[in-house]
Amino acid sequence: MRPGDKAAPSVQTVEHVLSALAGLGITDALLELDGPEVPILDGSAGPFVEAILAAGVVDLGPVGMPAVSILEPISLIDPASGTGIIAGPSARPGLELVYELEYPPGSPIPPQSASMHLPAGGPSAEYAAWVAPARTFSTLQEAQMARQMGLFAHLSPKDMLVIGPEGPVENAYRLENEPARHKLLDLLGDLSLCGLLARGLNGKVTARRTGHAQNHEMARRLVALG
Ligand SMILES: [Zn+2]
Repeated sequence: MRPGDKAAPSVQTVEHVLSALAGLGITDALLELDGPEVPILDGSAGPFVEAILAAGVVDLGPVGMPAVSILEPISLIDPASGTGIIAGPSARPGLELVYELEYPPGSPIPPQSASMHLPAGGPSAEYAAWVAPARTFSTLQEAQMARQMGLFAHLSPKDMLVIGPEGPVENAYRLENEPARHKLLDLLGDLSLCGLLARGLNGKVTARRTGHAQNHEMARRLVALG
């Protein structure tokens, strides 16, 4: 695209690679794509983390801009659905992220949560091992509905984490609370769009049953802090 072109290119499914970069504390990277979508790979951020670590990382030193702190609560709650995301101050320096996953009663995915810490301007100690490997998932019912609509016809349950009443179908969990950890992975990728993680963001963000749209809205609200 040249400057002045009206149609800005758009890229889909950026959240997993952005999450990998943010979780590893990488602030400068050039991503080249030859299609409209980042490859889904195994549905996690693990392959991106492995490739980045294999390529090597250079320490560029301090970014030269002060870290940003969330001082006042920012609350985005949808009363109709009970989903929501809240940001606020934290006693611990850096960014604390919590994701609470709760499907309706009777769902094959029990209520669960996952959390991580991202030091200001540095990698997260737990991200590579405990968050990045968590895969995209769906319930068996969601997978069957998608298949009826002709989606994912080329994938079998072995390629995706499909969760039925007895647990993963033709598959096994990689991590305890893998669905909540995947949602945490997505949350980090979505929030990284605020552009403040390179400077360091201090605060705590708790998301409850949110999807990308609500996470993105929080990222937009965080932009104002910079
Ligand atoms: Zn995801």
